[in-house]
Amino acid sequence: KQVLVRIEDLCKYFRLSSKEELKAVDHVSFDIFRNETVGIVGESGCGKTTLGRTVLGLYPATSGRVLFDGMDVHSAGKREMREFKKRAQIMLQDPYASLNPRMTVRDIIAEGLETRGNFSKAEKDERVCELLSLVGLRPEYRSRYPHEFSGGQRQRIGIARTLAVEPEFIVCDEPISALDVSIQAQIVNLFGELKEKLGLTYLFIAHDLSMVRHISDRVGVMYLGMMAEMADSRELYENPRHPYTKALLSAIPSTDPDQPMSGRRIRMEGEVGSPVNPPAGCRFASRCPWATDRCRKEMPLLRQVAPGHFCACHLEERQGT
Ligand code: SF4
Repeated sequence: KQVLVRIEDLCKYFRLSSKEELKAVDHVSFDIFRNETVGIVGESGCGKTTLGRTVLGLYPATSGRVLFDGMDVHSAGKREMREFKKRAQIMLQDPYASLNPRMTVRDIIAEGLETRGNFSKAEKDERVCELLSLVGLRPEYRSRYPHEFSGGQRQRIGIARTLAVEPEFIVCDEPISALDVSIQAQIVNLFGELKEKLGLTYLFIAHDLSMVRHISDRVGVMYLGMMAEMADSRELYENPRHPYTKALLSAIPSTDPDQPMSGRRIRMEGEVGSPVNPPAGCRFASRCPWATDRCRKEMPLLRQVAPGHFCACHLEERQGT
């Protein structure tokens, strides 16, 4: 397996005042392999969106590094950055807001094509038709405007525009959460098909664990700026180790009695901590049913608890390697 994106001890802090600092991403490290999908989940405010943007260089890092195909994203020169922006793209949550209502679908998609060189009008038109077919829309739709489409279709148009740039790596920032549940699965399937057809690599950000399960090879669970747990998707769902992951999984309604957390609802009752001046110990301690005094004083480190399975919890230490 070849590493495409290496995230090394990445921190992104926002200074709010002389005394307050929001630690949106705090010492996060992991690799993303070529043609892999890494899902990142967590509640809003856990830092997942900031992580995606910092990985793409849209926010400067406070410390740490992001290496894309060996290039340090945060110290790249202008020319390298231009090249990087073609190879790495972002897909946003709300397809409607990101599509210009006064442009036809043809012009919206053609905008992406312009980054790839000069095409004649006929070549552009042909490529737009190809891209629409690729995302499951009829080529005849290209002369229509965004308001003439449903939410799912608009998301497909947004995907076609992103693909026009011919990226290798796409950060998908909650790309399905604005859609009806019935449409979400279709768009997730489309992402999966495109990954196989085009050899894409995704960082797929979502708040819903059940959705990322089907698209992700590996899943990372973030809590207040830190990675609480990361493992192969199947391992994480079948054998969750971190109390927060267990609580999230136990909250998913399941008709499958074999689902490990099925019928074992874990309630998170305490107050949600804050990433602003976070406490010294485990950030989940205020809501964790198993928290001890040690948890409130000492931060657990992310350590390997089984091959390829990482967890940051004192309870798992005895099994650590
Ligand atoms: Fe809970 Fe302690 Fe583990 Fe944190 S370290 S998740 S508080 S048991």
